[in-house]
This record gives sequence, C-alpha cells and structure tokens, in this order.
Amino acid sequence: MPTDIEIARAAKLQPIGAIAAKAGIPDAALQPYGKYIAKVDTSAIGDFASRPDGKLILVTAISPTPAGEGKTTTTVGLGDGLSRLGKRTMIALREPSLGPCFGQKGGAAGGGHAQVVPMEQINLHFTGDFHAITSAHNLLAAMLDNHIYWSNELGFDARHVAWRRVMDMNDRALRSLVSSLGGASNGFPREDGFDITVASEVMAIFCLATDLADLEARLGRIVVGRRRDKSPITAADLKAPGAMTVLLKDALMPNLVQTLEGTPAFVHGGPFANIAHGCNSVIATRAALKLADYVVTEAGFGADLGAEKFFDIKCRKAGLKPDVAVVVATVRALKMHGGVARDALSAENLPALEAGLSNLARHVENLRKFGVPPIVAINHFTSDTAAEHALIQNFCRNHLGVEAVICQHWERGGAGTEELAAKVATLVESGEADFAPLYPEALPLREKLEKVAREIYGAAGISADARVSARFAELEAAGHGDLPICVAKTQYSFSADPTLRGAPSGHVVPVRELRLAAGAGFVVAICGDIMTMPGLPRQPAAERIHIDANGQIEGLF
Ligand code: ADP
Ligand code: MG
Repeated sequence: MPTDIEIARAAKLQPIGAIAAKAGIPDAALQPYGKYIAKVDTSAIGDFASRPDGKLILVTAISPTPAGEGKTTTTVGLGDGLSRLGKRTMIALREPSLGPCFGQKGGAAGGGHAQVVPMEQINLHFTGDFHAITSAHNLLAAMLDNHIYWSNELGFDARHVAWRRVMDMNDRALRSLVSSLGGASNGFPREDGFDITVASEVMAIFCLATDLADLEARLGRIVVGRRRDKSPITAADLKAPGAMTVLLKDALMPNLVQTLEGTPAFVHGGPFANIAHGCNSVIATRAALKLADYVVTEAGFGADLGAEKFFDIKCRKAGLKPDVAVVVATVRALKMHGGVARDALSAENLPALEAGLSNLARHVENLRKFGVPPIVAINHFTSDTAAEHALIQNFCRNHLGVEAVICQHWERGGAGTEELAAKVATLVESGEADFAPLYPEALPLREKLEKVAREIYGAAGISADARVSARFAELEAAGHGDLPICVAKTQYSFSADPTLRGAPSGHVVPVRELRLAAGAGFVVAICGDIMTMPGLPRQPAAERIHIDANGQIEGLF
C-alpha cells in the first residue's frame, strides 16, 4: 500500500470551481486560493433562510489508544460512500495544526484512499487561518502589556494576567517564561508563556461564532485579567475586539476542498478537544447543512469527550440537531482495551477483544442518552481476522441492539463504505433521532459536571477541594452558572487515569481547576493533567520531511 502522500499526489483533482458547482455554491461566493482550494463567502451563496437543513451525521469513536481508530479517515470514507449512493453530501472537518504534523501524529487530512486533498496544503499553511488566529490572539496580548506599560488605567493586577501568547508549533521551551526582561523600556517583567494556537480561546470563539458581529461580541467578552479587588477585565475593556475581528475577517469564511473522489468538503477551524470543544466551525457546518442533504462531521477524541462536547456545547449553542452518530472502532484498539500490549495487536485474540468490547458498549449506550441513534463502523485493518469481525458484529447485534458494519475505505475509498453509507442513510431517514443535550443550561455548574461524570464516565461522582468549590460558587455568583461545561481530561480512559482502559466504573473524577472561557461561552473543568503546549517527541516527524529533486514534499504522512 502506498503512503498517504503518494496516494494523494497520484490523484487527479478537479478544479475547485467544479467542486463548488457540485455543492451548489455560485461563482460569486468563491474566493479561490490557487486551483484546488477556495474560501466561500457564505453571505453570497443566496437565500439560506428559506432552505431546509440537511441531515447531520457525527463521526465519533471509542476511547482512543495508540493503536489508532481513524475518525477523520472514516468521516471522509463515509462521505464518499454516501456520494456513491447518489446522495448530495458534504463533509465538515477541522483544519490540521502544524504541531502534530511535525511531531508524532503526522497529517490530519484522512488516510489511505479516504483523504481530503490537496493534503500538503491542508496540512501546512492552507489558507492561513491559523496564522490569522495566532495574530489576533497575540494582538490582544500585545495590547494588554502595552496598556500596563503606559498607565495601567484599568488597574490590572499583574500577578493575575490571564492571557498567554500562542504559536502553532510544539515547543516545550515556551511553556513557561518571563516576559519584559531587559530594562524599564521593555515593560514590567512577569511570568508568561505560550500555548499552541489550537488551545487559544480565540480558536474556540472562531469555531462557535455565527457571523462577524457575533465573533466581535464574543472576543469582547474574553476575560484577560483582574484587578486587586478581583473584578474581571475583558478584551472589550482594552478596546481590542475591533482590530482582532479585522484580522479574522477572511479567515472566518469556510475553506472548500475535495476528497480523493470529488466529494465537497469544508475544512475550517480546529480547536483542541481537551481545553476546548474539538469540532470544526459552526459557520462551516451550518453552510454545509444548507447546501447538502447529508453532512458528515467529526468530533475529537472518544465519544465521552468529543461527542459529549459536540452535543452539549456546539449543537446546543448553534441549534444543530444531529441525526445519527457513527462510532468508529477497530479490532486493534478494542484488543488494547482488553489488555493486549501494543506489539501483540496483530495476532488474533478473541478473549481480549471480547473484554475490550466493554469500552464500545459504554460509548454506544451514552450516545442514546442524547437521543441520537448510534451505528458502529469497524475500520478494517489488514491484520483483522474474520472471527474477530464476527465477534464484534454479534456482540453489537445481540447485546447492544446496534449494527456494526465493516468498512474498507482506507484500502478502497468510497467503495469500501457503501454498506455503512446505506445503513446510515436508512437510520437517518427513520426519523429515530430526538436530540437533546444531556443537561439543561439552568442546572448549576457543579451539578452539570456531576451529571457528565456519572452518566457518561460511569464515575461515582466528582471531587473538588475547598479552592475549586469556592471557584464554582464564584462563577455562579458572577452570572456564569448557565454556561455549559467543557471537560478537559485524558482521552484514553472514561476515568481521569489514562491507564484504566475498557469501561471502568465507580471511580471519582478529581476537578483540579475551573477556567472561564466567557467569549467561547463555556467553563473548562480541568480534571487531571492537560497540555496546552505540547512538546516534540525524541524523533519528530520533521526530521523526515523534505523536498525532493522534483519539488515534491516527502515525509508528510
Ligand atoms: P483520528 O481522526 O481518529 O485521529 P485518523 O483518521 O487521522 O484518526 O487516522 C490516524 C492514522 O491512522 C492515519 O495516519 C491513517 O492513515 C491511519 N489509518 C486509518 N485507518 C486505517 C486503516 N484502516 N488501516 C491502516 N491505517 C489506517
Ligand atoms: Mg481526526
């Protein structure tokens, strides 16, 4: 099997105008970035208000393992499968970040014969959205320090500045540092640091904003620091939102690309799935729903984090009604959940597979709590055996009452997902979905988190020390009690302990810290260690990336 980049390079792409025409996007709305990428001015597409919405299909997964599940690959494969069945389909994905691209994970534009292209551009600078978000974020940081430098009229308590700087790179050296060294003309030295751009609240805001006016209002609500009396200071107090919005104006238009099989895809926005909600922009998803009959989208990490936030944050706030949830599982990852070591995954192991199915079962049952009918997609790996497939399928049918479909999109493209696509379409059209978020907005913050912990994670409850308990009360008193909760915890387990695979229950979820993201519109509950500036691994992918004699990029995978 050739590598992802070899497959992508061999593909014959259609001009982006042809893809736009297929999606029903008029030329007037198209702002081409080269031959195969365009930004789409959604205000120029025509009358959206009178059009009905298409059906929304979420692709989520079992708890991730290093064995890999393939959500993005399956999202693309399912989109192509639906297209092959003659359905008007669009795909909505996140933009990849440069950090993982040069680090361990590689690209994030799908894999095998299920990719969005041109993969090199999508994985690298693309249309510059992340650079715009980085600039807008850092403009606010510069204006803040400049304000303190000149007079500090707003009365910042410099010990509690809550706005770090960002860069789209994995660079642990920047996690924690002292800024403004070098004398009085450089300002007041203080502890500072960088996060990766995808962890920026500006990124989360960008992905939840419904239009430019909403973007500007949300940017204004960002809390950047506080006074000695603890009262908050916002970006609006610094008069920053106008200029930040100007920097983001073009970026806010969704990027149109195509799959290897010519299905139109929006690839737009890319918030972290831990500190933020982990799905592509509301603007792109809404536009896709107006343009297509079927929209396939992905949420980050496993369903306990990704799907829960997709439903409780994005769908609730944007008024989206998902029709079906596809749970991606692999034989290899289920065996890891059943206790098999990573280097023994290629051998058939039915008892371990059976044990690991507890993880899939919990995710399937959880999805039903949102009123969204699940279906399981078994992403086929060449090491899988027929007996292993049969075991999963029988378990799903007999114990979970759900279909499990073998998919071969990685090897065969859309032809390998026709069966999944047909069953998804049937499920969508059955009208079985009756979406509702897990908890009402009016529930106090602490009870929201308790409910997620008990009902989604199978926990006995949460624990919070006196400081965190006081913070719950402080946020309620300040009027933030009706915000949804965005949980930041390990993606590897239903618990806060990454080594507890399968479906642990009765555990306690320790809440370490609560962070207000007033612009994005959620409260982040940090449960365990989370990383907002990743580092590079010992042998980063960057060491293998280069340009060959023909000017082609090698080493992106
Ligand atoms: P996720 O979105 O869940 O993080 P991706 O879809 O990005 O996962 O896939 C992760 C990696 O696994 C990619 O490099 C992809 O090429 C590879 N992959 C996905 N499905 C398969 C498969 N069926 N066989 C082999 N490799 C696969
Ligand atoms: Mg992905």
